[in-house]
Amino acid sequence: MLAAMPPPAIFPARTGDASPRARGDACPGTLRLHRADDGALARVRIPGGVLSAAQADVLGKLAERLGDGELHLTSRGNVQLRGLGPDCGGELASGMAESGLLPSERHERVRNIVASPLSGLDGRGERDIRPWLSAVDELLCASDTAAGLSGRFLFALDDGRGDVDALGADVTLLARSDGAATLRVGSAESAVRIPGARAPQAALIAAEAFLDAAAGSGAWRVTDLPGDDEPLLDEIVRRLRQAGISSGPTAVPARPEKSAPPDPGIVTGPHNTVALSAGVPLGRIGAHQWQALTGTARHHGNGELRLTPWRGLVVPGLERGRAAAALDRLGAAGLIIGPHSPWTGVGACIGRPGCARSLADVRAEAAATVGPPGTLPVYWSGCERRCGHPRGEWVDVVATPDGYRVRTVRGEERGSPLTVPAGPPALAAAVTAARGTVG
Ligand code: SF4
Repeated sequence: MLAAMPPPAIFPARTGDASPRARGDACPGTLRLHRADDGALARVRIPGGVLSAAQADVLGKLAERLGDGELHLTSRGNVQLRGLGPDCGGELASGMAESGLLPSERHERVRNIVASPLSGLDGRGERDIRPWLSAVDELLCASDTAAGLSGRFLFALDDGRGDVDALGADVTLLARSDGAATLRVGSAESAVRIPGARAPQAALIAAEAFLDAAAGSGAWRVTDLPGDDEPLLDEIVRRLRQAGISSGPTAVPARPEKSAPPDPGIVTGPHNTVALSAGVPLGRIGAHQWQALTGTARHHGNGELRLTPWRGLVVPGLERGRAAAALDRLGAAGLIIGPHSPWTGVGACIGRPGCARSLADVRAEAAATVGPPGTLPVYWSGCERRCGHPRGEWVDVVATPDGYRVRTVRGEERGSPLTVPAGPPALAAAVTAARGTVG
């Protein structure tokens, strides 16, 4: 019998909290909801994006019963429930705990782990990082110290292909061809080589060392620390040695400028089974789409779903002969199943009416102007914060008092801005031109 869960707080009181870290970290979770203009919002951490079909059912039912009926995917492979009523907290927390989605109340907001979603499925990468994923999550939840991490601190477990390494995590484990791992901390320049079998423990040691380095500084993430990362890396190496983990200098691999989401379609590999990869238009999944995905996972796959940090999903473990029909069913449900969907590469923040800061209903505008797939991804934002925008090279469309500002972004470089009035004809033409035409 589970203990009764405490109701989540909505905007917990900050009076009397002397810590600048605690004062500033308003990142929502399951037990700490965020009040948005469309109701309360819960962010459910799903390490590596890995969900069982049973857990996925629970999330879907909670969204229908308590929220707006949709599941909103985030750029870290997590799920948000929106439009929650003020009295739903106890039921929400109990549902999460009973389904195993809340293994530790104290750590619920720090389980921010992205992992290569096709690891172990397509024959690429240097190792299957699933054992790392389970181990890092267990170590995090067992660490009193790690409970002090902010809800923004991010771990990335990359199987060597560079996809989630490109996401700029605070602590990255990168699998190497020799069986070892590269531990990268913060910036692209700070890394050491460690034994692959000790990599999860090394990741926790790195996070705990960061917390000590950040004490009193107000830093949430490694990049917030004053100065360069070298003193932190030196301290991590010292702690690794204390823990009996050998480490050595390594040629630091260049961090990929661009992350590479799985292509939508059928994913083949060295196994007898295949996986399906699908994208979710604007990251919003309705009830019938979610049922199509969970039904595919349960009846045709191995009972698992993997959410990707690019607002997509992977369903592993299908028989080859049944994959095409199953993929078509996902397509019929409105998911992106091939490269020619007009929704491929299109993203948007929540915008109006969910966000009070937004100057426009950017999702509706994106839907009204969606056109032929472009070479570059495009991301629509309701204000300059540009929450959840992609990395690398992309087209940045931001609502302004005069319409929209359209420009290309490449890392820190910004292209010349073009101000375009709201409304499909001019805006669609400007966005299509900025994205470039595929082939
Ligand atoms: S980018 Fe601005 S409008 Fe969009 S969700 Fe973030 S704060 Fe709200």
